[in-house]
Formats: sequence, structure tokens, C-alpha cells
Amino acid sequence: MTLSTGVWDLNDALIGGTTSDRKNGSKSVRIENTGMVTMQFDKTSGASQVTIAHGVYGTDASSTWGLWYSTNSGSTWTQTGSTVTTSSTTLNTTTFTLSTSGNIRFQVRKLTGGRLNIDDITITDNSGTGGGGSDTTPTRDDNMALGNPSGATTSTSNMNNYLMDKVQYTLSYNNSKGMANWCSWHLSTAWKGSAARCNCFTSDVSLPSGYFRATTSNYTSTGFDRGHLCPSEDRDASDTDNAKTFLMTNMTPQAPNMNEVTWEAFETYCRTLMSAGNELYIIAGGYGTGGSGSSGGTTNTIASGSINVPSHFWKIAVILPVGTNDVSRITTSTRVIAIDMPNTQTVNTHTWDYYRTTVDAIETATGYDFLSNVSTSIQSTLESHVDAGPTH
Ligand code: MN
Ligand code: MN
Repeated sequence: MTLSTGVWDLNDALIGGTTSDRKNGSKSVRIENTGMVTMQFDKTSGASQVTIAHGVYGTDASSTWGLWYSTNSGSTWTQTGSTVTTSSTTLNTTTFTLSTSGNIRFQVRKLTGGRLNIDDITITDNSGTGGGGSDTTPTRDDNMALGNPSGATTSTSNMNNYLMDKVQYTLSYNNSKGMANWCSWHLSTAWKGSAARCNCFTSDVSLPSGYFRATTSNYTSTGFDRGHLCPSEDRDASDTDNAKTFLMTNMTPQAPNMNEVTWEAFETYCRTLMSAGNELYIIAGGYGTGGSGSSGGTTNTIASGSINVPSHFWKIAVILPVGTNDVSRITTSTRVIAIDMPNTQTVNTHTWDYYRTTVDAIETATGYDFLSNVSTSIQSTLESHVDAGPTH
């Protein structure tokens, strides 16, 4: 059945136009028994609100019904909001509020009672760019909201797990390795703007005295890029924000085909998710020793042994529709993408999604506890799951 919004499937339901059908205009949908009406198409910009007008058909008894939605083209359905009781013979409007991004379709299910008329289903996009009157304005949130994976501290004697809050991101510095153990940051459009990439690689003089401070020349002619953990493009609202990402404490020795191809492709995908109305919490780092850069062979260290060359780089991204109280909104169905890729020049024989793994596997490889601010029961579900969602 084609309605003004698109094609809907009517199951134990029909288009009614009699005097007993409650309607705006000449027709409405009449659902009988435990019938349902289902969208046969996706809205592609998520949904922030659905309104539905409903009334009792003729002199039938009251009925109950609910709104379900699917983000996988109808494979699985989830109820949103509460079950509604319709007892009026004039149309009333019920509003459902939700916050999803990407593809979504809806289904109205009649549950009990007499025949039900529904009409005027209105779906409001969740574009993430404002303008919809929604309360989902992106903000800059806590870079460490998910937790402190290694229990890093600001004690200067804690040289291999030294916590540095850069405002734009937070990291744990490892003096023995000459680079970060991990870097953690929040990504939303509130961090985005039009500042130019500064390419202003700078030694981090905020490291305590006695610490190794990498310089840009430490990476010269090593066969490895100065690879950002927190990407330049995730922080371009201002020149100051962007320059912060070029501190050498945010740099790691990455094989060029990793940094510039496969790793970057996942960075870009994360920003695609951001642009679709999401905010992300991202943690990244390297582990192991021995990478293979553009000079070939295996390189264990650069800078005369002061900088460890990781054998692998990993990243964990937790994706939420833009909103508030983020950690409390993480459920067992929250999308989490974990990747772990070798630091080699052949890494780009596969696309980034080939390297998807579990958070558990990265916890085992690194010894860290990720998502520690999330309940252990939710962690155990999320961390044992390999993402199989869209990849572009
Ligand atoms: Mn938020
Ligand atoms: Mn964990």
C-alpha cells in the first residue's frame, strides 16, 4: 500500500473511508485483531520523534497498540515508548521520542481490543545538525568518560603510566617507550570546524624534566610516519585545538601504508558516523615491538632506542546518538567497533573492517581495562562482540 510517506505493508489492516473510520481527510488506516502496519522503506537520517493520530473505529471497544522500530531493514524490531490505549472516538495524537541515527523504519502493532484507526504518521529526522527543534545539540564531552584504561596518574614518578590531560584529548605517556600507552578522546561536531591542518609537529615540553621528549627529527628517515593517535581532523574547530594534536606525545611510529591508508580510513569512517548524528568515544594505542616501515625489514626502535615501534595498533570506538549523560546511555546494544592491525606496509591489502576484533582481545593484548566506567555486565556483552555493522 502506498501512502504519502512511501510504501507500507498492511497486515490485518485496511484503508478505511467510511463514516465509522476516524480520520483527517477522507481515509485512514483501520487495524483489526492483532494486525500491524509496517514501513517497507528506511528513513536514512534516523529519527528523533514520531507522532501518530489514533482513534476508536465506530463503536468498538478500546484498544492497545505500540510503536516498534528497526535499524536493520526489518530483521529485528524494538518497541519504543510505552504501549498506548486508544479509547476516544475522536483522533488524538501520541508523540514518541527517540534518538537514532542512520537507517530506521517503523511498525505499528495493535495488541488488544477493538478496531483501531491510525492516521497522520509523522517522522522527524535526527540529522544531528540541529534545526529540528530537538534537544540533541552536540557538545564537547569528557575525553575520559569511559574510564582510565591503565590507571594512569599525574605523579611524575609514574614515568611509564603518566596521565596527561591535553584538554583536546587525554593520554597515558610511557617514558620507556617514548610514546603514549593510549590516547582517549570524545568526538562530536562540537570539536569540528574549518581550521587548517597546521602540520606544526612540536616536542611536548610539558613532559616533566628527566622524561624523554620526542622531536620530529627522531622520526626522520626511519621509514615510519609521525602517526597521530587523536587525529588532526578530529580537532579542527580552532588553530589551538588542531595544534594540540601535533604534540609529539600524540605521535606514534606508524608504517606509512597503515597511517595513510588503512588507519586513516577508519578515522574517516568514525567522522562519517559523527556526521550522521552520533558522538563517539575513541581510545587508541599501540602494543608489542617490531614494525615494518617503508625501509623494509623489522624495526624495533627508533631515536637510538628511545622510541618503541609497536607491532600492532588498536582502536576502540563507542558510538552513541548525540545526547547527554552518555555513559548511562551505553547498553548491550550500543555499537562498539574495535580494530587491531599490524604496523606493516602490507596492512593495506585489506580494508579497515578486516581488522575488526573484540575489546576483550585488545584488553588481553595490552593488559588494560577499557570501558571500565560501564557496568561489568554491559562490558562483558559489548567487549566479547565483533562489530559486523556497516563499514562506510
Ligand atoms: Mn554527549
Ligand atoms: Mn573492560
